[in-house]
Amino acid sequence: VGQGNVRVLVRARPFLPREIESESKCLLSMNSALGTTTLTHPDDIDRGDELWDGVNGTPLFRRVKDAKEFVFDESLWSVDRTTKNAQLVDQGALYDKVGRGSLDHAFEGYHTCILAYGQTGAGKSYTMIGTDDEPGLIPRTCYDLFQRIEKLTTATTTFTVKISYFEIYNEHVYDLLLPTVAESPTPLKVRESPVDGPYVKDLTTYSVRSYAEVEKYLKRGNRQRATAATNMNATSSRSHAVFTIALKKIESDAVMDETTEETNSRIRFVDLAGSERANSTGTTGTRLREGANINKSLTTLGRVISILAESSLASKKRDIVPYRDSTLTWLLKDNLGGNSKTAMIACVSPCDYEESLSTLRYASQAKHIRTRAVVNQDFIS
Ligand code: ADP
Ligand code: MG
Repeated sequence: VGQGNVRVLVRARPFLPREIESESKCLLSMNSALGTTTLTHPDDIDRGDELWDGVNGTPLFRRVKDAKEFVFDESLWSVDRTTKNAQLVDQGALYDKVGRGSLDHAFEGYHTCILAYGQTGAGKSYTMIGTDDEPGLIPRTCYDLFQRIEKLTTATTTFTVKISYFEIYNEHVYDLLLPTVAESPTPLKVRESPVDGPYVKDLTTYSVRSYAEVEKYLKRGNRQRATAATNMNATSSRSHAVFTIALKKIESDAVMDETTEETNSRIRFVDLAGSERANSTGTTGTRLREGANINKSLTTLGRVISILAESSLASKKRDIVPYRDSTLTWLLKDNLGGNSKTAMIACVSPCDYEESLSTLRYASQAKHIRTRAVVNQDFIS
């Protein structure tokens, strides 16, 4: 049994052209060796002195006394390449820090999950999917997956890979991999199996044999997510996208030609809806306003995280965790406090004080969640 906390990483993205245009100040600094992220209020930063050495922790501007400091498993700087000594955590470096290890766990037979959290425009999709030139965690994981399978396949050890991709919008689940998109897509139902837990009924799954095949479906899914948002007169920032890889390792007996052992792991990637909506409804605490429940899944995720965090901090028996209160938390039940090795990447803008503060606080809570991962192995005799 692999007991452990949810791994929490913070990633700060570069300035966008409009932020450079408006001469926004950099409010963040990081010390990658210590994993600390410091957020300073714009009023407390003197222009011209606002950069910090992201790696060695050498202050390039004086930190003000009420700056907010947070510690995470990793604080990942991708704000710029030019800060003296600052080490850019680009897409490849990010994969080295989170993706590869997660894939190692999957090959050991554990369920894994990586969630991207943060306000719209903070870099969640860039981190998970990326661009053609700078692919993110999902394409890199899939590429690596097939490389490893090729190396590990023998006469007696084989693998199968199946993928699925869905989104949760307004508490409804929509398939992102249908061959053609319907004008008004039908939501799918969530069911719970005694063995495998909650799942999406009738979800399209494809068996894939190569990275090229996955790439094709990923592109299709991303396109459908965008189209669906347009059709529903919304933006994709309000939906949660969940990409799942089911990896099966089959060991067989060469002489008897029989399967002797099967290991099943599920690798899951979640690109969450923009957290700015959750903030306005007060996910992390007190400001819950009636009727402002715009994104129930994100609000419930906040409650689930805070209940799980409190119970492990007080090391007391868990209160009833309201997994079933939203579609997202129900489907991610195992990944949140259950049988899974889970990581959360909190994405922040370098220049939005309120939103970054709220994201950093949320991420701090998530650090306290404990999961109990087990190797999912069946012996067949
Ligand atoms: P979100 O999915 O959280 O709404 P995006 O991933 O779409 O945000 O990012 C917003 C913009 O910032 C995009 O143009 C993206 O390419 C850019 N961006 C985000 N994170 C990074 C990063 N780490 N490095 C370079 N560009 C980034
Ligand atoms: Mg996005």
